[in-house]
Amino acid sequence: MKFLFVEDNAVNRRVVGEMLKAGGIEMEEAEDGCLGLTKIEENNFDLVLMDLRMPRMDGLTAIRRIRARRDAKADLPIIVITADNTANMRADCVAAGANDIIEKPISMPVLFDAISRIIASGYGGEATLV
Ligand SMILES: [Mg+2]
Repeated sequence: MKFLFVEDNAVNRRVVGEMLKAGGIEMEEAEDGCLGLTKIEENNFDLVLMDLRMPRMDGLTAIRRIRARRDAKADLPIIVITADNTANMRADCVAAGANDIIEKPISMPVLFDAISRIIASGYGGEATLV
């Protein structure tokens, strides 16, 4: 499996990259929403992890752009990872098309629970977690 993490904080990208690697998942990274959309255009990811607050293009805008695609990538599973975990923000994420939201600081069990729920719901094809 190959995931994309769209996140402007390099430390978070490294931490999550190591967690995913421990679970046998490869991770590509993008530093903002614009770069994230380009990576999605050029690659076939199984899942996208999305920060909200980023320069150039924020996470909600990037999610809306992904959902507006006219190809299969419009259905990419997206998990928002944010420190801004208010009821309003959660509602905005769901309205934009996020499948799940997890809170920073990121813990490995919470991350893998969210990934497992998405796989169990039929996203991610026949992929299984190591
Ligand atoms: Mg950020």
